[in-house]
Parts: sequence; structure tokens; C-alpha cells
Amino acid sequence: MTNRETRRGPAMARRQFLGRAAATSLVAVGTAPNRGLTASPGKEPFFKTRGVVLVPSDITTWNWPEQAKRAGLSTIGTHVVPHQVAEFVETDEGQAFLERCQALGIEVEHELHAMRDLLPSDLLKKAPEMFRMNEEGERAADANLCVHSRAAIDLVCGNAQKYARKLRPTTGRYFYWIDDGLPMCRCPKCRELTDSDQALLLENQMLHALRQVDSRATLAHLAYLNTYHAPTKVKPQPGSAEAASMEICRRARIADQRSLW
Ligand SMILES: [Zn+2]
Repeated sequence: MTNRETRRGPAMARRQFLGRAAATSLVAVGTAPNRGLTASPGKEPFFKTRGVVLVPSDITTWNWPEQAKRAGLSTIGTHVVPHQVAEFVETDEGQAFLERCQALGIEVEHELHAMRDLLPSDLLKKAPEMFRMNEEGERAADANLCVHSRAAIDLVCGNAQKYARKLRPTTGRYFYWIDDGLPMCRCPKCRELTDSDQALLLENQMLHALRQVDSRATLAHLAYLNTYHAPTKVKPQPGSAEAASMEICRRARIADQRSLW
């Protein structure tokens, strides 16, 4: 088998997986020139979602909702971790930001590195089985979780629901990412699954929990680095998983620039 053939198999499976997942949510980071981003009269814009991702300290330093509107953006995504954004939206500034977005028709969603808020690392001593096993056979709170720990899944799902009540996206799209680029669990049960399968196993259960809070909920699946290849054993919930891919984003930026210039 040539290198080309070796690469083609997983690539095909990956495309099929991405096709099966719901439409990709693409976020064009930054305020690009207006040309090509907003709809010309009688013409739909190439990207339905055109956005910028901001941390709370960004949001408070500029009139972002107005500038986003002027730039033809559709969406502002908050960042970085759930507890930080949840604290912000409870402040007067946070409430004012949400109200300005609503008044201007700017969608708001929350793009969050979530694992440590959903499974606090200080539980390692008390319940080590909830955490991932590393290559040395030790439980570690350095990244992600053990997806075969019922207690871990229940805690993560419960905390995802807690944050979903505080941080409800106007789009129905939820982004509670795994620790991206970091390994998943290597315990005897999880070892049977790829990192992509482990991520999707978690996301399927998290999505089920989120839909008890928000019936429109969809949940992003990161598909790059160690989760680049499509899951092989776990199937996504129908219409449930969105894919965020560095590879797709790189291509999108190229496509976007062609439309601009
Ligand atoms: Zn495990």
C-alpha cells in the first residue's frame, strides 16, 4: 500500500463523517473587509455564519455589537472557559452586551474550552477513576477524562446543563470542547477506542443532556490533530454533531479571500 493509498482511506471516512454531521459552523475570525461578506442585493452571502470570537476583556473595550453589524458579521462568539464567560454575562456590562446584540440582530454563542470546568481537576484525589489514564497507567488530571467512567460522564453532563442555563446561545449551537490537541484516556476500556471515538462518545451523551435544557441544542465536535480522523466505532447522534476543523477553516479562508478579491 502506498502512502497515498494509506492516507486516502481515513480521509474518505473522515469526509463521510463530516458530511453526516450537521452543517459546519465556520467562524471567520476578525473583521474582514465588508466586500463579499454581506449579501449583495438578491444574492446570498457565501458564509451563513460570519463571526468574531471575543474574550470578555475584548468585549468591554469596544462597541463590538455595532462594529460587528457594520462589518456584516452575523455572530459574536464568546471565549475562553465557561465559568469566566458565565461570570461576565451576569455583570451589568455583560447584560448590556447581550441586549445590544439582540437589538442589532447579532447572534451570540459561546465557544468554550470546557473540560476543566465540567470536570474539576481537584476531584482527582477523591475520584481518580473519573480522570484519564496516561501512558504510564496513572490517572491524571492533565486533560480530558475517562469516558468509561459513569460518574465522570454524569458530572460533565450535569455541569454542561448548569452552564447551558446560564449561557444559552441564540443559535442553539453549543461548543463545550474537549481539551483539544491533548490525549484522551488510555485505560483498558478506553484504549479500545480512538481519541475521535472517545470524544464523540462523550459528546453524544453531553448532547442528550443539553437537549433536556435546550431542545434546539447541537454540539460541536472538534476534528483536528488527535481527533482528525473520523470515529470508527461510535456514531454521531443524527443531526447532532457539528464539526470544527482547522483543515476546513484553512480552506474556508482561502475560499473567502477568493470571493473578496
Ligand atoms: Zn478510560
